[in-house]
Amino acid sequence: MKFDKILEYQKVDMEMTAIEQSFFKNDVYKTFTNNQNKLKAAAAKMEKITQEAWELSQSASKYKEKTENISKQLDELLSVVDEIEDLAEAEHYIKLINTLSDSLAALEKDAEKDKAQGAKINAEWNEILKIGQDLTKTVKQIKPEYDKIYEEVRKQREEVEARLKAIAKDVENEFIEKYIALKKDRKTRAFVKFDPEVRMCCGCNMELSGDTLAKLKKQGDWTECPNCGRILFIED
Ligand SMILES: [Zn+2]
Repeated sequence: MKFDKILEYQKVDMEMTAIEQSFFKNDVYKTFTNNQNKLKAAAAKMEKITQEAWELSQSASKYKEKTENISKQLDELLSVVDEIEDLAEAEHYIKLINTLSDSLAALEKDAEKDKAQGAKINAEWNEILKIGQDLTKTVKQIKPEYDKIYEEVRKQREEVEARLKAIAKDVENEFIEKYIALKKDRKTRAFVKFDPEVRMCCGCNMELSGDTLAKLKKQGDWTECPNCGRILFIED
């Protein structure tokens, strides 16, 4: 009698596990989750590309400003060159013009590199956008079917949950706590009937020592398996 209720609890809880497992194995669930994860990854990539594009646009406007500035200085210099009569002065200006021209060429080269990078970012963006759009379409298509099976499972779980709660009222707290801890540890079928004939744990098949066997003598006795932690008991 002592173990009747926890065994009933365990049986109903296994129904719950079966419901959840069949949901996770469902193709609709798998396809939906798979596409949803891919969509999340695509969105993250889009965010990264946007950041890169923004950074590039910042440096592009910086180039524009610098280039304009140098061009202006060049124009000013060229306009005074015609008025130069002194050869030394002319040479000085020519040097200055050459320096400015070099800076301008270097800037244009950098800007060209950025332009190539910009084109690369643009191509990447178009590619990921297409992927994102396709995935959104797929997810949207599957969503109603997914919602349907999700709702079915939700109802089933609710019903089983109510039964579990009702049973739990009559189970010793200690048993429920041990059951939940063992389940977390993936030791389902946490409560295992002890068979004095076989002298081993029917959960993990470990042969039991004299110490453990000493705790399992009469009806209603129970103890933890030293190997797997499952509860071994003798029915009363
Ligand atoms: Zn065991």
